[in-house]
Amino acid sequence: MKTFPMFLQMAGRHVVIVGGGEQAAQKARLMLKTEALLVLVAPQLDAELAALVVDGRATHAPELTVDLMRGAALVFVATGCVGADYAAHALSKAAGALVNVVDRPALCDANTPSLVDRDPVVVAISTEGTAPVLARQIKSRMEVLLEPNLGELAALAGRLRAQVSGQIPQAQRRFFWDWVFSRAPRQAIARGALRDAARLIKDALARGETGAAQGSIALVGAGPGAADLLTLRALRLLQEADVIFYDRLVDPSILELARRDAERVFVGKEVGASSWPQERINTVIVAAAKRGKKVVRLKSGDPGIFGRVAEELDSAGAAGIAVEIVPGVTAASAACASLARGLTERGVTDRLMLATAACKPADPDPDWAAMLQPGTSLAIYMGVARAEKIVRSMEAAGIPLSLEIDIVCHASTPKERKIHCTLSDLPKMVRDGAVENPAVILVSWPKAEFSVRADFIAA
Ligand code: SAH
Repeated sequence: MKTFPMFLQMAGRHVVIVGGGEQAAQKARLMLKTEALLVLVAPQLDAELAALVVDGRATHAPELTVDLMRGAALVFVATGCVGADYAAHALSKAAGALVNVVDRPALCDANTPSLVDRDPVVVAISTEGTAPVLARQIKSRMEVLLEPNLGELAALAGRLRAQVSGQIPQAQRRFFWDWVFSRAPRQAIARGALRDAARLIKDALARGETGAAQGSIALVGAGPGAADLLTLRALRLLQEADVIFYDRLVDPSILELARRDAERVFVGKEVGASSWPQERINTVIVAAAKRGKKVVRLKSGDPGIFGRVAEELDSAGAAGIAVEIVPGVTAASAACASLARGLTERGVTDRLMLATAACKPADPDPDWAAMLQPGTSLAIYMGVARAEKIVRSMEAAGIPLSLEIDIVCHASTPKERKIHCTLSDLPKMVRDGAVENPAVILVSWPKAEFSVRADFIAA
């Protein structure tokens, strides 16, 4: 290492910024994150810097002197003029200050790192100037990994530190903090619920729990396929999971994003096989959480849309295990995005129906006439195998088979296919093998065509 990272104490110290333009303002913005007192040195300050002086956030000195810099935590030089930069650098050295001259690496004692700021949690990244693009990439990854309000949890932990030390024996403290920063309190913070996090921690302390073996379950939406349609929260949970139970429709590229040593268990139903009935899935995910594992139950699209979450929620609830649901991009949304149109259109389709053609075996067939009326956009999930039946019952219900439909197969993935036809053509498209599973069938019945149905019924 040519440079060594240190975190400088800034409270009550002063930082001198030499220069009155944009570059100086950039350094001022950075230093305003700290509790340092800013001294702005320039004959003239731009409007932003002048406002800092007016607001009492900084003081202004028109000329640089050695005295101004004595005892400064840092001196930044950004005059925009070579001669002035060198002169200010020489004066700073004479004052014994740590100096950074913007864009002149040879004159820098210290460099400002790339920051991921979750104050009081701060990640500083440096490549010693060798690879700024890499530094930016690392920063982007850290920004994803650390929830926006993670600092609030750290600050809360700081406030509770003494109480935890007083109450939990040293040997178990690490387990307790591990629980705080990776389980329910951390999940509460990820939802933005600081108060819930505080309550969870205080309740655990009151009950004398050390958090050694508490598992959790997250029902996570994997989206329609494309890995970059995953939410940031889903990505974070995947990276924290000890074990991941995933479905057949979850794209392998998404599992790649999990921790290398996380256990991955396929619990999908291969076509024709039923090795993983729902009750068995419920049992294994609860059993893993009971063993203290962080369980991610990864489901395609949005877990709450035809994803049988109720059964998994009930089993986890009955076992007293904390469950979190992470929404995802549902297939119908992805399909419409691929068609470059909206799921609804003002004045044309102002009602949206998401329906499955695969109901419980004992249930009556879907009532298409009740769902599909003028002004409706209907997305049918799991409809391909039942296409013929759907169209026949729509016909019997008086729905015009001349309605135009879109079928989107493998939406958002490299295998994506789009078919545009009429309702009457749907069974033939399926018979001819044009439609591949998984596919969403989108039926639109525009408002303006209300008369079509009336004519049809009259005929
Ligand atoms: N929870 C999922 C739906 C699960 S049901 C979601 O919100 O998307 C499974 C059905 O979803 C499939 O039969 C198909 O109709 C649809 N589906 C899932 N992924 C799809 C994709 N990439 N393209 C088209 N349809 C998809």
